[in-house]
Amino acid sequence: MAIVFCNIGWMRNYDGIQGDSIQRGGSYNKDSVGHEVCNFTVCRGKVYGYVQPTGRISVERLGASKGADKADGVTVIWTAGPNAGGTAIVGWYTNATVFRDLQEIPSPCKKHRSNNITEYRIVAPIENAHLIPEQERDFLIPRRVKGGIGQSNVWYAEKPESAGLVDDVIKYIQSGARTSKLPDVDTEATANEGNPRLVAHLRRERNPSLVEKKKKSVLAAEGKLCCEACGFDFEATYGQHGHGFCEVHHLKPISQMDKDRVTTLADLAVVCSNCHRIIHRIDLMPTIDQFKKFIANKTDA
Ligand SMILES: [Zn+2]
Ligand SMILES: [Zn+2]
Repeated sequence: MAIVFCNIGWMRNYDGIQGDSIQRGGSYNKDSVGHEVCNFTVCRGKVYGYVQPTGRISVERLGASKGADKADGVTVIWTAGPNAGGTAIVGWYTNATVFRDLQEIPSPCKKHRSNNITEYRIVAPIENAHLIPEQERDFLIPRRVKGGIGQSNVWYAEKPESAGLVDDVIKYIQSGARTSKLPDVDTEATANEGNPRLVAHLRRERNPSLVEKKKKSVLAAEGKLCCEACGFDFEATYGQHGHGFCEVHHLKPISQMDKDRVTTLADLAVVCSNCHRIIHRIDLMPTIDQFKKFIANKTDA
């Protein structure tokens, strides 16, 4: 299956700039508003997408015959990075038509007109377009690393070292929309919007099977679940009601959540609910050691 990654500015709805905003996005039209502002605007049953390529789009690399003006049946993965950092999948089109050159929208709708959008590069039927809600965008795409997306906004992911990432992306989009909300969010809900690295952190440390494995391994090794920061043991305080209870915190700095996609037990720490919340209230997330020192000294961590 032909797949292409297209990096655009970060928006909530991509349905016009009115009531929305764009971060790290295109400033390539006359109003300094990216052409991608209407990438998920429904227009007569279709969505018209825009990405700013370097030069033309190489449709041959998407399965078109040499000299063709378009490639059909392409999966387009839209990625974006908000000001908070990281690059995440924000949505996708399947079975899309990707053009080598800029195209005129045949009959732009009202939203297109009010945003001065007259051109596009990729078109798909609306039922093949999927936008991920802002707080659920946690599939991070590594950039500027081997096998990751480069500087260019259009990425064909053809190198063998990208194959693992592409497989994971295909599985992710085939599993459809993620409807599961993050349970027990210990940060203000708005902090998750526009911060895919934080969402990825929360999602990973709440992965039920990993949390169970982590608890089992700590219980097997130590016979109890004590907070690694303050030593609190739920069972010691709450008896049978606290048996087997603790929270689990992901140790990797949030700025590095995109480096690898696999979480190991060593990436997780057992913490109590109080310490966990406070750790997340500190702007630059402290390590457990830094946090322990903070508890001991009550100075700024
Ligand atoms: Zn604690
Ligand atoms: Zn955490």
